[in-house]
Amino acid sequence: MPERLPIAHLPTPVEFLSRLTEQLGGPEIWIKRDDQTGLAFGGNKTRKLEYFLYDAIEKGCKSVITRGALQSNHCRQTAAAAARAGLKCILVLSGDPPGRVNGNYLLDSILGAEFRWTNDKDPDRILQETFQDAEEVGRAPYLIPYGGSNHLGIFAYTQALKELMDQGHDEDHILFATSSGGTQAGLCIGAKLYRYKGKITGITVDEKADILQNRILTLAKTASETLQLGVTLSPSEVVIYDEYLGGGYAVLGNLERGAVQLFARSEGILLDPVYTGRAAGGMLDLIQRGMIDPEERILFWHTGGTPALFAYGEGLL
Ligand SMILES: *Cc1c(COP(=O)(O)O)cnc(C)c1O
Repeated sequence: MPERLPIAHLPTPVEFLSRLTEQLGGPEIWIKRDDQTGLAFGGNKTRKLEYFLYDAIEKGCKSVITRGALQSNHCRQTAAAAARAGLKCILVLSGDPPGRVNGNYLLDSILGAEFRWTNDKDPDRILQETFQDAEEVGRAPYLIPYGGSNHLGIFAYTQALKELMDQGHDEDHILFATSSGGTQAGLCIGAKLYRYKGKITGITVDEKADILQNRILTLAKTASETLQLGVTLSPSEVVIYDEYLGGGYAVLGNLERGAVQLFARSEGILLDPVYTGRAAGGMLDLIQRGMIDPEERILFWHTGGTPALFAYGEGLL
């Protein structure tokens, strides 16, 4: 099995949200605090990066390269993990350098990352060019896939599911924000390996459910084969809701704003505007519509992302 560089603060806490539960008058709501993974404001990518950084060092690499959006949490955690491991970090960010340096992008800079910009070109092509350039000048680069979602990132989330079970938690539902799919693939595979009996539901923040479901099935198949886990997921096990996409990826709407404020004011917990705010907004809607039995218990998996709050500023008020 893959080995990890211990960077994250694990296990992350699980908390009961008593005030929120009472306020909603529905199912018990618990929260898994992967916003508290401990590395430079935390988040779900830290679990994945433990495996990538171990692999990079093992292979004698001197730098890591990945890509993402301007306010990518994955890129910020990659920059921090690289610094922690003594490697350089090159980030390929979408678009052009912004006028304002804030949120995750500010943190990337503080953490010493170098930037390449895709402008209006194909991000994957620019990523490949950046990788080749780094190789040619002897920087021994290690490529971390988009969102950290390959067999290593997926393995990290099989272990996160095991961690939850070891903490004695077996809520009826696990709900969370899904995007590149590694978290969901890992949780779903972990559920089979460690016999979690509840339902795992991803709320997509940027793609239609059928497209993402296919990607997750492919990712899970490859991961299971590569790691010889002997697990096959069926489409019915990869449940995704895509009715909360609103204005599109990273577009803040009433749903996200309301959820961010509700969690903050009822529990003192900060969500983020792009991922967890949308997923929590979706969860609240599912509860209100009676789609979740009030007798059941929900575990909301907080995947991080809070530095993006600062990039949205007063839009959140
Ligand atoms: C990346 C990210 C996700 C989605 O995880 P995937 O493994 O890419 O599906 C959810 N929440 C936050 C805050 C993230 O940064």
